[in-house]
Amino acid sequence: MDQVFENHFCTRYPEIFPSSGNEIAPYFGFECRNGWFELLDATCTLIQKHQQEQLCAPVIATQVKEKFGTLRFYYRGGDDYIGRLIDLAEYLSDSICDVCGKPGQTLERNKWLRTRCPSHAVEPGNPAATVSVPTESPSQFADVIAAALHLFDLDAAAAARWLTNTNRALSQSPLSEAISAGNYQQVVTLIGQIEHGVGR
Ligand SMILES: [Zn+2]
Repeated sequence: MDQVFENHFCTRYPEIFPSSGNEIAPYFGFECRNGWFELLDATCTLIQKHQQEQLCAPVIATQVKEKFGTLRFYYRGGDDYIGRLIDLAEYLSDSICDVCGKPGQTLERNKWLRTRCPSHAVEPGNPAATVSVPTESPSQFADVIAAALHLFDLDAAAAARWLTNTNRALSQSPLSEAISAGNYQQVVTLIGQIEHGVGR
């Protein structure tokens, strides 16, 4: 992950990421591509929010990496909610291109597993990805993740299935609606309607 993204995590989530001055501590590893930045940012937003609201052991990330084509977030501390949240992030990484952050799937190429969108399935550098550091506004993707986890009573696997399978009301998966079309609020609204029995 590029330095600018690592610096973002260090600055915005100083309790989660060990830092050394303004940079991630040298012993800490961010061993994945930029495409999962938004997923990680949303997850960290929710970890930080939970920590501020609850009395749970501080969450300290020890390693963030790609393994077998999907995300691994290793950490100390936390509680059951934090565990479910990180499980959900790891499940969702199976459907997010690790190069550009658009919807993708885990593919095998030359015996390596990678999660890629169609554009980056063969060549990760072409077309060039345009992942950018967000402005100061909180992550809207975090709202989607939190709402889905709540809808499924913290069952991360069920929440991931719902987010990644085609939804009748959206004509695509809620995850695609959010990260590809940018309609985060529409997905949160849909979850609210389901919570209130309007339809599933
Ligand atoms: Zn891609």
